[in-house]
Amino acid sequence: MAKDSANDWNTRTKLVHAGSRRSQYGEMSEAIFLTQGFVYESAAQAEARFIESGPDEFIYARYGNPTVRMFEERMAALEGAEDAFATASGMAAVNGALFSQLKAGDHIVSAKALFGSCLYITETLLPRFGVEVDFVDGADLDQWRAAVRPGTKLVFLEAMSNPTLEVIDIAAVAEIAHAVGAIVVVDNVFATPIFQRSIALGADVVIYSATKHIDGQGRCLGGIVLGTREFIRGTFEAYLKHTGGALSPFNAWIMLKGLETLDLRCRAQAASAQRIAEALQGHPNVPRVIYPGLPDHPQAELVRRQMEAGGTMIAIEVAGGKPAAFRFLDALRIFRITNNLGDAKSLVTHPATTTHQRLSPEQRAALGISDGMVRISVGLEDAGDLVADLLAALEAV
Ligand SMILES: *Cc1c(COP(=O)(O)O)cnc(C)c1O
Repeated sequence: MAKDSANDWNTRTKLVHAGSRRSQYGEMSEAIFLTQGFVYESAAQAEARFIESGPDEFIYARYGNPTVRMFEERMAALEGAEDAFATASGMAAVNGALFSQLKAGDHIVSAKALFGSCLYITETLLPRFGVEVDFVDGADLDQWRAAVRPGTKLVFLEAMSNPTLEVIDIAAVAEIAHAVGAIVVVDNVFATPIFQRSIALGADVVIYSATKHIDGQGRCLGGIVLGTREFIRGTFEAYLKHTGGALSPFNAWIMLKGLETLDLRCRAQAASAQRIAEALQGHPNVPRVIYPGLPDHPQAELVRRQMEAGGTMIAIEVAGGKPAAFRFLDALRIFRITNNLGDAKSLVTHPATTTHQRLSPEQRAALGISDGMVRISVGLEDAGDLVADLLAALEAV
């Protein structure tokens, strides 16, 4: 199959063309190879392929598939990674990135502000298999310094925390981790691959839930792990292909088409988020607005250094606790109540009663998640309409 090469292209060009493969029909749009397997021209060819498959040779969709490979190569080109492996969901990516390289007796350090399922893996599953996990406040570099030790296998963190949008200094954490030989694994979902290049900042392995901005239209689950060719093909692929977390070719195609507009969508959504955050600041019913693009964000200087824009997410505190937050959510007409994010549709979540319900009130307090906190994912609608919807709903509070 003919392939497009991407090394000297800029982001927008890579997002449209990188990794494209064309069959003998010369189809213009990326084809969906909705096939579980591949036939061989001879028994000898089958034998040879099981010994070693070339870059354009496939065996079984759990191991790889041309449509999935296009998505992997486009993502690797975007992120500046040597290689990538796509997974059935973001959690298959997180699970694989950790379990593929850990064993009993290993020590890891993790930021404590994690997506619920990531917390389940680090807090409950890994210790069950004899992995020692220490948790730190990700924004406090002294805690990272104190927690790592010679022999620490890896550090794990979400670059921007959910829902309080705290930003972790990737370059500084990477320096601390690399000094003891630990691998840096970054879940970059909230920061997006458009606004933050974690590999360039020092991360060794980067993970995305493609379910979020990469699909961006709320259709499919998907995930991806990016890193060196040695890690992806030497360590990760063996784990994933034998444990069954492969991305379906149909979902890979949805993600590929999502990538074509990713840069445009993220920039439009971030511009609206900036405008909304500014419009809500100082509102009498909103004592606190957290948005990484605001000059009063606790890590505004780090955000300027590490990110190209403040992202597509905002967290606000609605005065009056849970009853007020619920009245606010119920009064919105454009924003939909759901727990997805990064979507074309603007979405709102009440973390204390949904995504972070499982935590104790003390744990929520320690993470800064109050009963009045509302998480906002800004979509592609008209920004003026979004501001008007939010302000009208705040009147109802
Ligand atoms: C959604 C999410 C995940 C999990 O992704 P799925 O595709 O839902 O499995 C992991 N990490 C973060 C930060 C997320 O937002």
